[in-house]
Amino acid sequence: MKQEPTITVGIVDGQTELTGRLDGTFRGERSGLLSGRFSAKANMGTIVLRDGSGRELIRAPLIKLAAADNSTFRLPNVRIGKHFHWERTEEQTFQRDLVLRLRENGTITAINEIPLETYLESVVSSEMNGGAPAEFLKTHAVLSRSWLLAALNRGKDAGDTSGPPSKGSEKEGEVIRWYEREDHDLFDVCADDHCQRYQGITKIVSEQAGKAVRDTRGKVITRQGEICDARYSKACGGLTEDFGTAWGDKRIPYLTSISDAPMPHQPIATEEEARRWILSAPDAYCNTQDERLLETILPEVDRETKGFFRWTIEYSREELEDILREKSGFDFGTLKEIVPLHRGPSGRISKLKITGSKRSMIVGKELEIRRWLSRSHLYSSAFVVTLEAGRVVLQGAGWGHGVGLCQIGAAVMATRGFSSEEILKHYFRGTEIQKIY
Ligand SMILES: [Zn+2]
Ligand SMILES: [Zn+2]
Repeated sequence: MKQEPTITVGIVDGQTELTGRLDGTFRGERSGLLSGRFSAKANMGTIVLRDGSGRELIRAPLIKLAAADNSTFRLPNVRIGKHFHWERTEEQTFQRDLVLRLRENGTITAINEIPLETYLESVVSSEMNGGAPAEFLKTHAVLSRSWLLAALNRGKDAGDTSGPPSKGSEKEGEVIRWYEREDHDLFDVCADDHCQRYQGITKIVSEQAGKAVRDTRGKVITRQGEICDARYSKACGGLTEDFGTAWGDKRIPYLTSISDAPMPHQPIATEEEARRWILSAPDAYCNTQDERLLETILPEVDRETKGFFRWTIEYSREELEDILREKSGFDFGTLKEIVPLHRGPSGRISKLKITGSKRSMIVGKELEIRRWLSRSHLYSSAFVVTLEAGRVVLQGAGWGHGVGLCQIGAAVMATRGFSSEEILKHYFRGTEIQKIY
């Protein structure tokens, strides 16, 4: 790669109407300069763009508004944390170009076209507070850049080995699903946690985050010359997870479980070991009570999540029966048993058997399990179940899929004096850091 690529980020999807504001000047094709409030409405196979007074400006299925220098656009109702417990809508502000595209189903998709490094400055600030340790911010910049470029490369491969969008198998009594980035057709990445959280410049891009991106410009994690598919999640829980527990059944050497601690922790192999591991509080980089550090590494929206290293959720049996009916679409009747059939090395369950009076089902992989057993999402699928006396208690470990880098662990490592390169090589074994443009 010789130069910095431009990427497309999906910000709003599936609305028939949207409003916003152009601050500064934008140029639309055949429309001259635009600024101020606007509305866009899907109408008979096209998008009608109007100004604040309702005057029609452009009518086309694809509208590109190119930003002049220092111009930004605002969208008032951007949904963030979709389907997660922190879901909400926010007004957000973006730099660079705005593209509106009509979908075949008659809805509008709002897309931000932006140079990769500018996008990264925002992602690093959106995912993490700018007050985080400098080596941690640099770690995150390299991580996010690698993840994104690897994802774009995968998408461009003619013989894409990862196959169609959401994948898995469904047969009688079994639902095994996982979700991949390839779910997107009209843009490279979405702005939500599904890809990487991107909130434009809504949160003022911190000088520190900007510096971390500039200091690492063009640097990526590679293995045997290939850019690594650098996955990450909030907190592994002491052991990171194998790729195959969350996604397709393949072994990726640098996405294989490691001990997230100065000492080795043995990978989980049996139910007995899972119980002992999850019900204990082992020494691990992400096992931190340091509120001050967490404040600097987690954006405000994530600080509402407490007890991510070890957690407990309790339901009445009827409550969980209701949740299961709603989330899985199956009526289990009276819940009898919830049994892990397969766990990955971090203790995360990839196959879970749920038995009720009316039916028995096997569900996987980790994200689908987290969806079925919670009104939003369980923190992770590393849990043990106690079902007795009309109560269901889930005791769990970690936050997120646990594959690749552990964000909270990486931040703690940075405070202990590890460099960004050491941190990246701790989580992604056998890799190199290379500058590609
Ligand atoms: Zn996405
Ligand atoms: Zn960890």
